[in-house]
Amino acid sequence: MAAEVLARAGVSVTVLDRMPSPARKLLLAGHGGLNITHSEDREPFLARYGSSADRLAPMLAMFTPDDLRAWCASLGEPTFVGSSGRVFPESFRATPLVRAWLARLGELGVRIERRQRWTGWADEGLEVEAVDGTRAVVSADATLFALGGASWPRLGSDGSWVDAFVDRGVTVSPLRPANVGLRVAWTDVFADRFEGVPLKSVSLTVGDVTTRGDAMLTRTGIEGGPVYAIGAAVRAGLDADGRCTLLVDLRPTVPADDLADRLRRRRPKDSSSTWMRRTLALDPAAIGLLREAVGRDLPDDPDAMAALIKAVPVEVTGTMPIDRAISSAGGIAWSEVDESLMLRRLPGTFVAGEMLDWEAPTGGYLLQASFATGVVAARGALAWLGR
Ligand SMILES: Cc1cc2nc3c(=O)[nH]c(=O)nc-3n(C[C@H](O)[C@H](O)[C@H](O)COP(=O)(O)OP(=O)(O)OC[C@H]3O[C@@H](n4cnc5c(N)ncnc54)[C@H](O)[C@@H]3O)c2cc1C
Repeated sequence: MAAEVLARAGVSVTVLDRMPSPARKLLLAGHGGLNITHSEDREPFLARYGSSADRLAPMLAMFTPDDLRAWCASLGEPTFVGSSGRVFPESFRATPLVRAWLARLGELGVRIERRQRWTGWADEGLEVEAVDGTRAVVSADATLFALGGASWPRLGSDGSWVDAFVDRGVTVSPLRPANVGLRVAWTDVFADRFEGVPLKSVSLTVGDVTTRGDAMLTRTGIEGGPVYAIGAAVRAGLDADGRCTLLVDLRPTVPADDLADRLRRRRPKDSSSTWMRRTLALDPAAIGLLREAVGRDLPDDPDAMAALIKAVPVEVTGTMPIDRAISSAGGIAWSEVDESLMLRRLPGTFVAGEMLDWEAPTGGYLLQASFATGVVAARGALAWLGR
């Protein structure tokens, strides 16, 4: 995106990418339909960026979700708003968008040099290593880094840039998995039966943070939108105590008293499972989770059972590794860049995208902020170049 903004202003742009082809992560995001941005109002939209919202707000105003949608349409990929407010290209794919985009960049004169890995700074410029080990030094009037975080490293962004920046005195918070599954030591019986089964319409709470939606049970834990959205609170809990308890509310729309009233309608011959299924329509995975929390003997008392259903404790032992994460938390500290995303310590050097220390849940917020920071950094570079 930065290359496009710069080239449109008449700047000669060379993109160096360590991979054989560019935009691999964007293409992978396309496998999930390419949720490119979100349509919600500005205030709740900004709130998704948590403590980075203040710094990102002017950037997301400079390149808004509507601007991103117009940009997609200009590449022949009109977008639509899905039922959850998420925005997707009508084709539900990234491939046609990327193909049209690369063609446009070519017409604008952008040169894309593939299999060129940036390894650090030399006196006269940037050190670049080709795939055969050949090294070269590249110089430029301005440099813009958009090397990504460290999730899915085989797609290109492996976080290997961190040391070179730290050596230059730049503060970088460690890259950590975000939007990632959580590890839970399920019993074999539970994992065998419920791996790949969703917990439908549940809410998840850690501390004072609660999220809602469908969570997917996996062999080694739990994943999905509401799990990812609570990730920062889980990381904080794990950092503090090495453990973290997730409370699962299996019936978030029904108050505990109402649940208890329904549970009082138990028939004498009902087993625990039949009781739960008949009075509350709990499915086998939900009932399995209750047993997983308290052992085979579920409480018979309706009030105790209702309390358990509203807050099933699940012990989280860790997160899945960063190479399985959708995005990274951590990165270059906001204090290191000015409002044009130029590094204060390295004038003429700009950064954009997941390299910066912000995080957001899934829902199109990641790509929106990556694109917006690309636009802002490119405009910063234009100003630096006196254009
Ligand atoms: C499976 C998956 C699905 C996703 N789905 C969505 C979604 O639907 N919606 C959404 O908003 N977000 C989604 N994301 C997140 C989104 O793709 C990223 O947030 C976004 O791509 C980050 O953009 P970026 O430009 O900062 O980094 P990247 O897209 O990672 O690009 C970094 C580039 O830098 C190159 N590079 C890295 N190091 C070097 C080096 N040393 N030298 C040269 N080149 C280098 C890489 O090869 C790569 O081309 C998804 C991510 C994953 C993994």
